[in-house]
Amino acid sequence: MASISDVYAAQRSFFDSGATRSYAFRKAQLKKLKTTLKKHETAILEALQADLAKHPLEAFSSEVGLLFDEIDHTLTNLREWMRPQAVSSPLMHYPSASKIYREPKGLTLLIGPWNYPFQLLINPLIGAIAAGNCAILKPSELAPQTEAIIQKVIKDAFDPAFVAVVTGEGHIVIPEIMQFRFDHIFFTGSIPVGRKILEMAAPHLTPVTLELGGKSPCIVDKGADIKTAAKRIIWGKCWNAGQTCIAPDYILVHESVMSNLIEEMKAAITRFFGEDVSLSKDYPRIINEKRFDQLTSYLQQGTIVAGGQTDRSNKYIAPTILTNVSFDAAIMKDEIFGPILPVIPYNAAEEAIKMIAKNPYPLSLYIFSNSRRTEKTFIDKVAFGGGCINNTLVHFTNADLPFGGIGYSGMGRYHGRSSFDEFTHFKGVMKTATWLDVPVKYPPFKNKLKLAKLLMR
Ligand code: NAD
Repeated sequence: MASISDVYAAQRSFFDSGATRSYAFRKAQLKKLKTTLKKHETAILEALQADLAKHPLEAFSSEVGLLFDEIDHTLTNLREWMRPQAVSSPLMHYPSASKIYREPKGLTLLIGPWNYPFQLLINPLIGAIAAGNCAILKPSELAPQTEAIIQKVIKDAFDPAFVAVVTGEGHIVIPEIMQFRFDHIFFTGSIPVGRKILEMAAPHLTPVTLELGGKSPCIVDKGADIKTAAKRIIWGKCWNAGQTCIAPDYILVHESVMSNLIEEMKAAITRFFGEDVSLSKDYPRIINEKRFDQLTSYLQQGTIVAGGQTDRSNKYIAPTILTNVSFDAAIMKDEIFGPILPVIPYNAAEEAIKMIAKNPYPLSLYIFSNSRRTEKTFIDKVAFGGGCINNTLVHFTNADLPFGGIGYSGMGRYHGRSSFDEFTHFKGVMKTATWLDVPVKYPPFKNKLKLAKLLMR
């Protein structure tokens, strides 16, 4: 493998040649990416099965199908997104015309996590390519089979002078790469590492997108359709065995419907995965022993009302519902990131809002309710990245919705137009005609103030 400095130098010179800028080039590369993903689709699904025991349906819909949608959406809109935008100009500088040009930023570094190890690296790549950039990808070393297939796919699709992959342990390889100056860094991962990425980007003043995590609450109001809520919450919590940045982390349920919700969630678990979930092929495993041990330590922090079974030898933790959980316990401070679901009662929206405020702004928020007023109360009064009403996770799948966090859950946003914008420099240019030169701005200023004030009203 070529050294990082060789790859970097090759990309810098390729970008500087202007080759990535045209619409035709970007379109061709996106199409190439799509055909290469199709070609390797089976191997990608196998890698995800090996790393996380993801069922092919789950792996396809959350890691590959979503990318096809994102590429198609981008190809449909790219020409329009790239078009310079005419905007108005101040009267003071008449006769002028102003335009915003969409310029590629340059060399981008994309860093991925292990939980959706394929999609969370390739999805930002679509935005980086669409915006006319080069990219270096760093997959998570904790999903080694997926890391290998990412290398294969990228090598098959692209010249490394345009898109390349570097591998290795993050704490070693990332500081090495980040000695070089990138024009944008896109990081998906944990809050502590996100902080390090910002620190390493600071000397070069490189703009950074941080897609981080946090505790995403799920509110179940008294008038909600409880059966549907239970089904959609369990689906969202068990998708990738809860190892999803936007998984419902904990439930705040109106006390009058708490026992009904718990019964319906238990029924949903059995309906989805059978009496013994460990036998289900549709239920993934925990990524490694370290995470398994962390998750099982939470099981003592409440009363187990469903699940609780674990098997360290195959990193299995049953979908588990906990009650009697204190906000002072670690499980209510850490992002759970596994299939354990604390259920906490409230009796007024204001009380639930105060509970949410005990933790930093969440990445997602879910509200199950049949009341517009309740929806509005939570949307208006709680700061969160994005979310759903009467559903979980699915806001992520809509390319027309910007995706990203706020505060500790991240900065910047992507998907669809937002991805294009995130990787684009907005270059504002004003052009002034020469046939007239309004003298008001030129010294001497004597007797011109009145006119200047008129022009700038
Ligand atoms: P992580 O922060 O440990 O690792 C992410 C990447 O950073 C990996 O590629 C890793 O190699 C690299 N890395 C690790 N240590 C590093 C260091 N010291 N210096 C530089 N780079 C380093 O995160 P993870 O465990 O892979 O992923 C789980 C976290 O990611 C959770 O907090 C989850 O909420 C978050 N996440 C967020 C989103 C989102 O879209 N907002 C999506 C998925 C996961």
